[in-house]
Amino acid sequence: MKEIKTIGVLTSGGDAPGMNACIRAVTRAAIYQGWRVMGIHRGYLGLYEGDIKELTTESVSNTIKMGGTILKTARCMEFMTEDGRKQAYENVLKFGIDALIVIGGNGSLAGAQVFALEYDIPVIGIPGTIDNDLYGTKATIGYDTALNTIVECVDKIRDTASSHDRIFFIEVMGRDAGFLAQMSAIAAGAEAALIPEDNTGKDQLGEFISRGIRKSKNSSIVIVSESPKDGKGAEYYAKRVRKEYPQYDVRVSILGHLQRGGTPSSVDRILASRLGVAAIEALNEGQRNIMVGIDSNEIVYVPINRAIKMDKPIDKDLIHLLSVLSI
Ligand code: ATP
Repeated sequence: MKEIKTIGVLTSGGDAPGMNACIRAVTRAAIYQGWRVMGIHRGYLGLYEGDIKELTTESVSNTIKMGGTILKTARCMEFMTEDGRKQAYENVLKFGIDALIVIGGNGSLAGAQVFALEYDIPVIGIPGTIDNDLYGTKATIGYDTALNTIVECVDKIRDTASSHDRIFFIEVMGRDAGFLAQMSAIAAGAEAALIPEDNTGKDQLGEFISRGIRKSKNSSIVIVSESPKDGKGAEYYAKRVRKEYPQYDVRVSILGHLQRGGTPSSVDRILASRLGVAAIEALNEGQRNIMVGIDSNEIVYVPINRAIKMDKPIDKDLIHLLSVLSI
């Protein structure tokens, strides 16, 4: 394998708090190794356009506490095409990049996988997405911070829900993955979580209603996972309740982009730092085309194609736990 002297690092897809802590860790660990680091701006778009500048230890100073990503991020349609990736590879050669670190979600790692198969470049993926939907890692960078943000918002909505005796359907992010919805429902003491993975064929809303909305409570909070595939978001469920139970005062709150922002939690900063250093150490050991992840507090290496293709299972016991706790 070609000796590594210079690596490229990019953030891609949706931004997630902790991405900066990860860029910092990647940069410093690579420099520690004696390598140069090229920061690729705006994800694959920057690789395609050649928007690439060297990172030094100083360029990542004081970034550990910052939300968003100093490298910026973007979605890049050109990278979905062979011609686009060819141009991106020309920039890899032009800037002398010997290996690539991609920090991002499912789509970003799918792009990394295709690129690594087409061109002779080692790629290491780092899971950076608030959705926590990558297989093989218990957590992804940004998930913990987003969860804390959601819980804080739900606590506030609870105050108004109980003052007015209302049922609130609160929609959270997740892109067809229910981790944020399920865990925030438990942490905020919500009455139910409606998640795409609870696909036993049962009517989740019907179950919640038959358990008795308001039998013993005068307000309810239901967390709904955004579900672009089947379109069953908070509005869908609220509409059903309004139609079938017009006696209830139903409201919808879609938390939206505020879930992505803010200073990263300590958990995310530590995870991002560990994964960033692990990615560089993996490259140094000769690993390629893997995602670094975390499981039982240990660093794990997962082939990228498994991380993106396998469905990460939701903990079904927690579905039961929530229904026990919400009586
Ligand atoms: P998030 O989970 O936060 O949404 P993501 O990484 O899944 O992040 P996507 O928008 O799905 O975000 O992907 C980011 C970029 O990765 C795309 O704009 C595209 O440039 C690249 N990409 C995604 N899928 C592929 C693919 N199959 N082949 C090549 N490139 C891809």
